[in-house]
Amino acid sequence: MSESPEHFDVLIVGAGISGLGAAYHLGQQCPDKSFVILEALDGFGGTWWTHRYPGVRSDSDLFTFGYRFKPWRGAPLATSEEILKYLGEVIEENDLDRHIRYRHRITSAEWSSDHRRWTISAARLDTEEVVSFTAGFLWMCQGYYRHSQGYTPEWEGLEDFGGQVVHPQTWPADIDYAGKKVVVIGSGATAATLIPAIADQAGHVTMLQRSPTFFFVRPNTNELADTLRELDIPEEWTHEIVRRKIVHDQDAITKLSFDAPEMLRQFLIDTIKPLLPEGFDVDRHFNPAYRPWQQRIAVLPDGDLFKAMKAGQASVVTDQIVRFNPTGIELASGEALDADIVITATGFDLSVLGDIEFCIDDEPLDFAGTVTYRGMMFTGVPNLAYVFGYFRASWTLRAELISDFVCRLLNEMDQKGSTMVVPALREEEAEMALGPWVDPDNFNPGYLTRSLHLMPKQGDRDPWRLLHEYSVEKELLPKADLDDGTLLFK
Ligand SMILES: Cc1cc2nc3c(=O)[nH]c(=O)nc-3n(C[C@H](O)[C@H](O)[C@H](O)COP(=O)(O)OP(=O)(O)OC[C@H]3O[C@@H](n4cnc5c(N)ncnc54)[C@H](O)[C@@H]3O)c2cc1C
Repeated sequence: MSESPEHFDVLIVGAGISGLGAAYHLGQQCPDKSFVILEALDGFGGTWWTHRYPGVRSDSDLFTFGYRFKPWRGAPLATSEEILKYLGEVIEENDLDRHIRYRHRITSAEWSSDHRRWTISAARLDTEEVVSFTAGFLWMCQGYYRHSQGYTPEWEGLEDFGGQVVHPQTWPADIDYAGKKVVVIGSGATAATLIPAIADQAGHVTMLQRSPTFFFVRPNTNELADTLRELDIPEEWTHEIVRRKIVHDQDAITKLSFDAPEMLRQFLIDTIKPLLPEGFDVDRHFNPAYRPWQQRIAVLPDGDLFKAMKAGQASVVTDQIVRFNPTGIELASGEALDADIVITATGFDLSVLGDIEFCIDDEPLDFAGTVTYRGMMFTGVPNLAYVFGYFRASWTLRAELISDFVCRLLNEMDQKGSTMVVPALREEEAEMALGPWVDPDNFNPGYLTRSLHLMPKQGDRDPWRLLHEYSVEKELLPKADLDDGTLLFK
């Protein structure tokens, strides 16, 4: 380990869309701060670097998934290559590359109140050295899931299966599915993207789901953007106007999902019915038991998944897996599915804080024992901000609001001459009711419910809640009172 670690005012964990955005805003709003981004992977992009399965693309529009400061010039939904190109331009245009250290996987972070700094250890994946850094402030942009492997449930007999088993998160470059019988387990956004992308070449693709998902079919165009572009309106304006329109429309849909869920359910079902083969049992396969938006609604550009089904290249089975056998999967209904390849689109392994071991003044930190301050800081954890985006709207909308907040906080600390800021419950909040990080009644995808016990708690009032509405937070956060006694400056 090096004798005198390199020191930075701010250390950013991760060079995904959140970390790169954090670096951009830090450069703009706190130009005197030194900073570094440590990234475990070989390149930038996070999610868009890791996921390489056929057809991988965004599920939200890039007007809002892209940054507010860089206009999106393409179609609303984008492929991972397009997103990586966009992020590459952000790096180049803002000279961020010199701040990024790739192949640095952070393993531990220790805070010292005496020294008012974090000491961070990272394993260098190229040289296998352990290197350390110190930093005044730690900005966690590690995303929400483990990049090295996806989540695969345990199934009886899997070891007996004679075919190939693949998780989309670790997609083998040399996989050959041409003419093969493929079963995709799962029906979330990943399955819905992958199936139409491989259906042409594969012999047949079966989507095997335990329970249905809501799908929203729409063309991959934005009429307003097209009109504004036709009128030769500056791209910056188009970007901002289209963002506002999308946020406005999404708010209306979210509101409908709470106020009139059955109406929204019917609308979603009615739009997909005509796209499916004659006599298709829509209720069985595409009418979930949960309320629309209680889990993410997967977007199907031009109904591509249903086109593959109508063409007979793909089909759906709603059933439970009993066990694997040498040739495929046995189901609870008594049916069996033969398969050459099984793709487990079964989701993520939640990683609360990048699998980093945290210590505060020599005490190991149990994040589940903390209470969140505005879903971005934690009680008893000094000089640390954490990025967790929206579920129902683009992740980046929240990441950028957090960026503004962190920069304001850092500037406030400088003004106060303080070197430490830590959230703490006020006396009147000591007995406040605490609940899980996300209320399962509000949003309950599998990767979250499996791991909620690892996440920090939230309280029953601001600023101790994680809010989910961009339109609310965009008003609230810029005005949040830093001197209301919930942040202790030292
Ligand atoms: C296929 C797919 C499609 C998606 N589409 C959308 C969408 O359309 N809209 C949307 O809002 N959300 C979408 N999401 C969710 C998506 O992950 C986030 O919106 C967004 O990409 C998260 O960006 P991030 O930078 O916060 O995290 P990530 O993209 O996960 O990047 C985090 C980075 O931190 C690094 N890191 C983590 N731990 C460490 C460590 N200990 N040391 C060093 N580096 C570390 C990782 O290597 C990674 O590069 C999608 C997710 C997937 C998997």
